[in-house]
Amino acid sequence: MNVWRPGIIDEIEWLEYGVSTRFLGNMSFPGKLDAHEVKRNRQNFCNELSLKGKEIVTGSQVHGDKIATVNTSCLDMALPDTDGIISNTSGIQIGVLCADCVPLIIVDLINHVIGVIHAGRKGTELIIAKKAVRIMSDCFMTDPKNCIAILGPSIGPCCYEVDLWEENTRQLNEEGVLKIFNEKICTSCNKEKFFSYRAEGQYAGRMMALGSIKQ
Ligand SMILES: [Zn+2]
Repeated sequence: MNVWRPGIIDEIEWLEYGVSTRFLGNMSFPGKLDAHEVKRNRQNFCNELSLKGKEIVTGSQVHGDKIATVNTSCLDMALPDTDGIISNTSGIQIGVLCADCVPLIIVDLINHVIGVIHAGRKGTELIIAKKAVRIMSDCFMTDPKNCIAILGPSIGPCCYEVDLWEENTRQLNEEGVLKIFNEKICTSCNKEKFFSYRAEGQYAGRMMALGSIKQ
């Protein structure tokens, strides 16, 4: 399994989304692999998701709560100090890197807006999921009741003292996002498939959660 791709995505014809597994390799540039290899890994991931565009917009993540909204003017760049990205523009691929932290996508099914969020312990404490919903509402007229959210593979309460799944679900519910999908796949329990910082330490690779509104 090269990509974890939730089944609900098949029902949203304008959206593509998935999370890379460790079989596609490390997706983070500051990792132990050279840039050339990471670029190739990212290209393979895009191919797996049948995404043609070359550019992936990511944030240089700092476990903060800054969320950027992007459009076609900021392609192929890493946004400074950014842990969440929101877009309503087709053809752009937005991604976050994770190894245990929760990769979260919020999807406005009516206005066709997506937010891809990196919610680790600190980001969760800073209520980044709530802030993402609020920005989608303020900037794109998103009504939370028209949204779904998907929590991707991440460390579960079985292996971590903070229940990131429960806390992020609660935050989304409080903002009015009620349809939450979570297959509850723990990265630490399943480290043969997923990178886990907790299980592997500082040299763990990073997976990427990548979303794109189709052209
Ligand atoms: Zn576990």
